[in-house]
Amino acid sequence: MIPVCEPTLDGNELKYVVDCMHTGWISSGGKYVKRFEEDFAKFVGLKHGISNSNGTTALHLAVEALGIGEGDEVIVPDFTMMAVPNSVFYAGATPITIDSESETWNMDPDLIEERITDKTKAIIVAHVYGHPADMAKIMAIAKKHNLKVIEDCAEVHGATYDGKMCGTFGDIACFSFYGNKIISTGEGGMCLTNDDALAEEMRKLKNHYFGNPRFLHDKLGYNYRMTNIHAAIGVAQVEYADKLIQSRIDNAQLYSKLLAPLDFFNLPACRDNVKNVYWMYGITIKDTSKISKEDFMTRLKEKGVDTRSFFYPVSMQNSYKRLVDSELIRDAPVAKQLYERGFYLPSGGSLTNEQIETVVEKITEVIDEL
Ligand SMILES: *Cc1c(COP(=O)(O)O)cnc(C)c1O
Repeated sequence: MIPVCEPTLDGNELKYVVDCMHTGWISSGGKYVKRFEEDFAKFVGLKHGISNSNGTTALHLAVEALGIGEGDEVIVPDFTMMAVPNSVFYAGATPITIDSESETWNMDPDLIEERITDKTKAIIVAHVYGHPADMAKIMAIAKKHNLKVIEDCAEVHGATYDGKMCGTFGDIACFSFYGNKIISTGEGGMCLTNDDALAEEMRKLKNHYFGNPRFLHDKLGYNYRMTNIHAAIGVAQVEYADKLIQSRIDNAQLYSKLLAPLDFFNLPACRDNVKNVYWMYGITIKDTSKISKEDFMTRLKEKGVDTRSFFYPVSMQNSYKRLVDSELIRDAPVAKQLYERGFYLPSGGSLTNEQIETVVEKITEVIDEL
């Protein structure tokens, strides 16, 4: 079976983790946490790094640090991982979803303004599958309506828009380092910001909002700390981040070259002004084909190729039925179409060219069988 994604652990990961064991620093104390925060912030080009237990807690921290809560609305993409709208809910606010552009699958900026009300406080931009969202348009809208912007960069480590790193456009950038993300710590996350006050607030929120005296808390805090062991893996990963990113891009280039002649799928886009890092190599079956994506994925699995479905849109989630019924969350025809026809192929950074060629061979066999 060719797996859909495996972590690459080719650097100093083991050495640094063993160091944690030898020194006894296995909790969130210890030198690697600070080092990972500094190294990763530097890699993206922002001043402060606030490490987190995962990408979801990073989003929740960002939303709360911006003072968003009950009665507020936050604009989010309809086509994304559910941690994005959920983080808004955790803070007591309401997520308002926006359909995708059909070309890049990202939140369509032309649909944002009609959903802005006097309750809207922020936009969470979650760049999809490696391709940056249209930040020029989104930032112009945010500025015009005085909205905060959180960039969810879980899927775009190292991607750029107009030559600038994703994460450097908004007020806070959130990253996940889950096992399948380009830079990974197994589980982990980070918030980045240039704003000193926001950084301080997030540091307090993630650590119980300890006060002075220590056990007197001025606000409701959380324990979202990252362990030194996870940070040790992260430090090692940042040392060869460029290589981890390039391997995703190389995978994608080979896939696109081999799949284009089949004329069966829509392949991932790459606009002129962006660097797509192809976190996952996603494709959609063209409208002209009658086969369902489930059928296609099952046939590939029988031939030893693992794939994953695209996200269920927020507007189709059972857990969001109440909001859908209230029409706060509207139908999103593009996101629905992406879900119905889209899945991603094995995309890990350690994938060999031979494996990619095998995947395309198996795909060709499935198409020939139809
Ligand atoms: C993976 C992911 C998350 C969640 O990260 P976890 O570390 O799994 O909590 C959030 N947003 C997006 C866009 C993601 O892809």
